[in-house]
Amino acid sequence: MTDKNTIVKNGKVALITGGTGGIGSAICERLYKAGFTLVANYRDFDKAMKWREEAKKWRDDQLKMGIDVKIVEGDISDYESAKRMIREIEEEVGVIQVLVNNAGITRDTPLHKMAPEQWFEVMNTNLNSIFICSRLVIEGMMAKGWGRIVSISSVNGQKGQFGQTNYATAKAGMVGFSKSLALETAKKGITVNTVSPGYIGTAMVMAIREDIRNKIIDQVPMGRLGDPQEIAAAVAYLVSDDASYITGSDISVNGGLYMSR
Ligand code: NDP
Repeated sequence: MTDKNTIVKNGKVALITGGTGGIGSAICERLYKAGFTLVANYRDFDKAMKWREEAKKWRDDQLKMGIDVKIVEGDISDYESAKRMIREIEEEVGVIQVLVNNAGITRDTPLHKMAPEQWFEVMNTNLNSIFICSRLVIEGMMAKGWGRIVSISSVNGQKGQFGQTNYATAKAGMVGFSKSLALETAKKGITVNTVSPGYIGTAMVMAIREDIRNKIIDQVPMGRLGDPQEIAAAVAYLVSDDASYITGSDISVNGGLYMSR
């Protein structure tokens, strides 16, 4: 249980896309404890109440742990949906000064078997979404003169992966986007960076067939999957004032799986 009295609120609003997922939940916890006012986005993609109920249950579970996170529905791959969501946050909570582009999906298959939908769904969710969300918050950050954008890329965007031409392309694209936006905002008090996780023990990785997952773990120099908290720690650093001189950078958090410069 977090002692709320020990948390000094900093008056800044942070939006975590896909915030109710595995890594997203850990990021929410860290940033909440760091004093940010937290908003977690979830999607209600088939408009069935089930997803809303699940998100509410997630919020209640967080509250029991002393983490107070507002939840907002929105499909970050859809400009109009994201626009509605961000307007709602700005009206009800405040200007978003930290954006963590965390929502992501995989639709793995070798290219010769890949259906166009598998390509476009992954592009829209992992890459187009970071244009959409960053575009919708950047003017608010510029007006405030302080902002942080962190996008969750992947080791597979750095080194490639069999069956992931779609995912690896999207994740690599995030890096080029972030470096370019970092240049555009460097004199405006805004930093833009990426974090590239290796294999982290969330539902996304636990969905990989066990024998394949074990082979992956064998390749990790540290010999284990990462913990969502280890990604959240890198994000918390990048959004902190301690990281004020870091922009256009990528932090690899992968147990030594791939050592990029
Ligand atoms: P999860 O599946 O647990 O979390 C992803 C979240 O994104 C889910 O809550 C998901 O919702 C949400 N989401 C998907 N599409 C949309 C959308 N269109 N609009 C709003 N929300 C959406 O995965 P992880 O926590 O493991 O992954 C988080 C990020 O980290 C992803 O970008 C992933 O690619 C990246 N990553 C993960 C690694 C790992 O090993 N786990 C390794 C490297 C990178 P729903 O449940 O409804 O699909």
